[in-house]
Amino acid sequence: MARYTGPSCRICRREGSKLFLKGARCATDKCAFTRRSYPSGQHGASRGKGRSKVSDYGLQLREKQKVKRIYGVLERQFRRYFYEADRLEGVTGELLLQLLERRLDNVILRSGFAVSLTQARQFVRYGHVQVNGKKVDIPSFMVVPGLSIQMKAKPSVIKLVNENLEITKSRTIPSWLKIDTANLKSEVIKLPLRDEVPFAVQEQLIVELYSK
Ligand code: SF4
Repeated sequence: MARYTGPSCRICRREGSKLFLKGARCATDKCAFTRRSYPSGQHGASRGKGRSKVSDYGLQLREKQKVKRIYGVLERQFRRYFYEADRLEGVTGELLLQLLERRLDNVILRSGFAVSLTQARQFVRYGHVQVNGKKVDIPSFMVVPGLSIQMKAKPSVIKLVNENLEITKSRTIPSWLKIDTANLKSEVIKLPLRDEVPFAVQEQLIVELYSK
């Protein structure tokens, strides 16, 4: 399946919640979801008012699509995360979210070094990120406690990251990360907690969907 390359705001309107896919714009009144919180298209407004009844399967499917889009993960990869979470000891839905949170691109976003997941992913792909002093250019790289993630790049990128930190300074940094803004460094001090996932997600619906 190809990666979705259409308008990001359309996804938020389709999923019925703000997914913060466009960085700084998402916090302003230019946010398309704030202005029109119903799906786009000719019949979007009536669908948004709940006139069409959604089946349990439909709800489960939508929740999965929403989480996939929040973390920018395609179906096959998402399914792999689910199987991994299912294999581990604990609550599968929570472990699934924990695995997604631990992706390197997400860590760059949560640390405030990038304003959106797309930008975070670009930083990683372009080789601007080091993990324990070594370049890692794989966005799906899974962090573990004890790792240190640092932005390393040309002065122009450092300048951009500092500007991003200014924009993102009001965001809450999750307790599993320790940020050193002076050195553009983020240390993973523990595994992410379920309560710190900054989105309203009903992960149980995804578990039900894959458990059929
Ligand atoms: Fe979603 Fe609003 Fe950001 Fe667009 S601006 S991606 S609708 S949160």
